[in-house]
Amino acid sequence: MDAGAAKKPGTLYVVATPIGNLEDITLRALRILKDADLIAAEDTRHTRILLRAHNIDTPLVSLHEHNEKERSVRILARIRGGRTVAYVSDAGTPCISDPGHHLVCAALAERIPVVPVPGACALVAALSASGFPADAFMFCGFLPAKGNQRRRFLETLRNVETTLVFYESPSRIAAAVRDMCDILGDREMVVARELTKVFEEIARGRASEILSRMSEAKSRGEFTVILEPVKQKSVFPADEDLRNELLRLVDEKSLSLRDAVALVAERVGMPRKKVYAIALKIRRNSDS
Ligand code: SAM
Repeated sequence: MDAGAAKKPGTLYVVATPIGNLEDITLRALRILKDADLIAAEDTRHTRILLRAHNIDTPLVSLHEHNEKERSVRILARIRGGRTVAYVSDAGTPCISDPGHHLVCAALAERIPVVPVPGACALVAALSASGFPADAFMFCGFLPAKGNQRRRFLETLRNVETTLVFYESPSRIAAAVRDMCDILGDREMVVARELTKVFEEIARGRASEILSRMSEAKSRGEFTVILEPVKQKSVFPADEDLRNELLRLVDEKSLSLRDAVALVAERVGMPRKKVYAIALKIRRNSDS
């Protein structure tokens, strides 16, 4: 029997809901929301719109970041009593920059089965259309709101070699893109705005171009920002290692310094001029 075939009493289901378009919900999610004894929702008014659109009248209770701890206790008591509860956040996958983490941890601590019901997630949707490598990526969630903290955090990402994914609010999108450009370099970027909604827009280009195209009107809505991985910098050997290799070629292989420079430059992919400058230092040291 597959994991989603029948409702299991005493289970917490973590159910993904649409990030805009109400059709973006799976058949399994609809069945679980319909069959659950209770739906715990980040905002019951918001979830009611979704439930109404799909003719679901399961009772709702709120569970959001301000009441998550206290509400979790009551919800887990219901589950222990054999009830089935589905948790949904306002949009997308619960726990992904959304409430739900505490409820899931508390359920796991009591050995209550926690079953994911996958579906929409803004970062996955944006990444899938970005054209950037997605076999490995780093999801950074929301950047710190304060400028200096945001810049300090971005500094820590300078050498991350995978695609980077961020969530950002409309009020900070321009400042965040500017800081990314300054600190992480003028990389290729995708800014996915209002995915699956009427004004969906996917902007592509260098960070500086995207920034220059960004107007106040276009800074409304929900944004997911994706940056291409940092270009692999060629790592040159240390001067001392190059010097030792040049000396070895001259002493042991009897190459002229000029030929040794040409050989080393080709091997390490470094400009000859640079290797020659190191060679000159050797000559100067041996002359003195
Ligand atoms: N749990 C959600 C998920 O699975 O994607 C994310 C919730 S988080 C509170 C909301 C943020 O996700 C927004 O501020 C925005 O950065 C991003 N987001 C949500 N919906 C989006 C959409 N339709 N288009 C682009 N980004 C979106």
